[in-house]
Amino acid sequence: ISRLRGAPRPRLLLQGQRRSGKSSISSVVFHKMPPTETLFLESTTRIQKEPVNLTWKSLMDSSFMDFQVWDFPGQIDYNDGTFDLETLFGDTGALIYVIDAQDEYLEALTRLHQTIEAIQRHNTAINIEVFIHKVDGLSDDFKLDTQRDIVQRTTDELADMGLDGVHIDYHLTSIYDHSIFEAFSKVIQKLLPELGTLENLLNGLVSNCRIEKAFLFDVLSKIYVATDSSPVDVQSYEICSDYIDVVLDMTEIYGYDRGESEVNTVEETKSSVGSSEDWSLPDQSSVMKLQNGMVLFLREINKYETPILVTPS
Ligand code: GDP
Repeated sequence: ISRLRGAPRPRLLLQGQRRSGKSSISSVVFHKMPPTETLFLESTTRIQKEPVNLTWKSLMDSSFMDFQVWDFPGQIDYNDGTFDLETLFGDTGALIYVIDAQDEYLEALTRLHQTIEAIQRHNTAINIEVFIHKVDGLSDDFKLDTQRDIVQRTTDELADMGLDGVHIDYHLTSIYDHSIFEAFSKVIQKLLPELGTLENLLNGLVSNCRIEKAFLFDVLSKIYVATDSSPVDVQSYEICSDYIDVVLDMTEIYGYDRGESEVNTVEETKSSVGSSEDWSLPDQSSVMKLQNGMVLFLREINKYETPILVTPS
């Protein structure tokens, strides 16, 4: 994990048309804003969206990723030379393109296809992730039909452009449930070179400690950086994510500065591996037993970043 902190941060570019939900997504995921409050997001409080003088802006200094939001005003033309596409796409790990599924999306798709074409000329290594967003208001059938339609139109259009080899992943998302966190987790995981090692470590933990499922979380964003290789079921992710909220809230109210003390948590155990340098910070841990017999165990790995959350059987 300390190597993760030292490594270059994965860079994400969030694009989409106005009102597609970009500011809401970044506020909910990275600033713990309650979804209903995004209704009142003013344009003045939004994140920097200047498309010409691009500077990467880290929204979370304590996190391990860089993140930039980019609006798609109607008149943008990638070919007119206004944009330094090398700066824009050169270092980007993933482009997240947000499409409002509750609105007409043909124009958004045209923009997406133009963007993919421009990307292909500058950085073919970028992962292209399409968030089919605001699906909370749609029935299951309609969601899948919309996804099918978007995939089909994009596949056809890219084939016409001679870009049939481009791989795109699609995610159905909403800020009103955990789907947006889940989608971000998948996007981030693909950008971490250490993923295989982390997964192996978690596999070892799970089999040696008879644990049902283990996640490695970035607590502040509730994005999971890695998990063991058993399939993720959404419910266990959701419950772990809710548990993090509870622990963070309790820590905020009853915790105190660990710089001056060795303990600061609700339920506390002191680290037994404090001898190594990376582990010398006091860790925080918490256990919760649920009515259905499930036990949630959270253990922090380093002071600011990623705790481990596991559900022993
Ligand atoms: P931006 O211009 O792309 O940054 O879009 P905003 O973040 O300002 O969002 C525009 C509107 O969409 C706001 O009223 C949000 O509350 C709403 N919105 C964002 N995400 C969702 C979602 O997942 N579901 C629903 N129903 N509305 C959303």
